Amino acid sequence: MKTAIIAGGGFSGCVIAEMLKRKGFAPTIIEAGPVLGGGCRTFFYNGHPYTVGPRHILVNTNEMFVWDYMAQFLDMRELKHHSLTYVQQDQRFYTYPIHTSEIEEMPDREKIHAELAARGDVAGSRNFEEYWVNSVGQTLYDKFVNTYSKKMWGVKNNKEIDEFGFSPKGVALKDGDKVSFEGSKVIGYPNEPDAFNSFFDTVCAEGCRVLLNTPVTRFDLEKKRVFAGGEWHSGDVVINTASLDLVFDNCFGELRYIGRHFLKLILPCERVTPEPYYFMYYAGDEPFTRVVEYKLLTGHKSPDTLLGIEIPTFDNKMYPYPVKADMDKARRYMELFPKDCYTVGRMGRYRYDNMAEVIKDCFALMETL
Ligand SMILES: Cc1cc2nc3c(=O)[nH]c(=O)nc-3n(C[C@H](O)[C@H](O)[C@H](O)COP(=O)(O)OP(=O)(O)OC[C@H]3O[C@@H](n4cnc5c(N)ncnc54)[C@H](O)[C@@H]3O)c2cc1C
Repeated sequence: MKTAIIAGGGFSGCVIAEMLKRKGFAPTIIEAGPVLGGGCRTFFYNGHPYTVGPRHILVNTNEMFVWDYMAQFLDMRELKHHSLTYVQQDQRFYTYPIHTSEIEEMPDREKIHAELAARGDVAGSRNFEEYWVNSVGQTLYDKFVNTYSKKMWGVKNNKEIDEFGFSPKGVALKDGDKVSFEGSKVIGYPNEPDAFNSFFDTVCAEGCRVLLNTPVTRFDLEKKRVFAGGEWHSGDVVINTASLDLVFDNCFGELRYIGRHFLKLILPCERVTPEPYYFMYYAGDEPFTRVVEYKLLTGHKSPDTLLGIEIPTFDNKMYPYPVKADMDKARRYMELFPKDCYTVGRMGRYRYDNMAEVIKDCFALMETL
């Protein structure tokens, strides 16, 4: 039987382990943390299930094989993703993405209309700030995007963000009804109280060797082995899901990330956010970027409610930096993978990938094995 070493037991390490088992491999997952699932692991706080930041699955309607993949293992419930943004200047919430109908409710609507009429060429935008000002004008950019983005990426100037194609959330302006955030996607969440945990702990881990609390500290891909827990582990194939710079001993320099501190807050009422919203973005000077009401995502029933508050930090690695220099560096790292060694996942490809993209990448990788 062929063997596989998987560095990292987050969502991507678990998906690839499951697929490898079905292809007849004997996989070993080597995970730094105490549990499998990485960022998509569900924990409990006073009975409330939560993940660090929301982790619902967003599947393109023309790629339902991704949904079908998860639905083989979990009872998936369909959701709609409606979100609000708090705009400090107006001291109120608006739906997000920005809806043309709501511009009429803004105190400075005449100025906004004049700016929309005079918009520049979006295609010619050289950075994130230009992209947004050209898309929605200066005033809407200042209300919804300017400060939010500086907080989100820990930058002083949004012109620093030059690889912006993937980072604006959805489209800049929406017409018509206040439709769901991700209109062209099917959005789902497992019905199980612990969401994806049984997928990680049972479907993926059973029949697989799993080493927890064991960070991989070195890679020797020429010999198809990794160093973890004081010894080398080798396989017929090696699959990385950890940060690319670690794999190649920082030979092109470190890759930058931004992370999250996560605060949990229980409030004494059944529901805080008005229907149908459960995501709130904060676009002003407050330190947090997003507040999520979890029970509306998880389906948990209780007389109280849990809010998760996300504060950007450089202490951990959650979001690859949307800057060309780092993305080019990541591409150079990816070119170094020798035969039988592969890389998938958010850190493994240094991309703002969601779970659906990870599943697609794992399918594609399986085609090559
Ligand atoms: C705040 C936030 C919210 C998100 N919300 C959504 C959402 O709603 N929907 C969606 O589809 N996607 C969402 N995502 C993205 C989604 O979580 C990722 O696509 C998914 O987690 C990627 O899986 P991964 O295994 O690559 O990374 P992770 O899940 O982060 O797992 C990486 C794993 O590798 C381990 N590891 C790292 N280094 C080492 C090492 N040296 N040795 C051993 N193990 C190591 C880590 O401990 C971790 O377990 C969100 C991401 C964030 C940060």
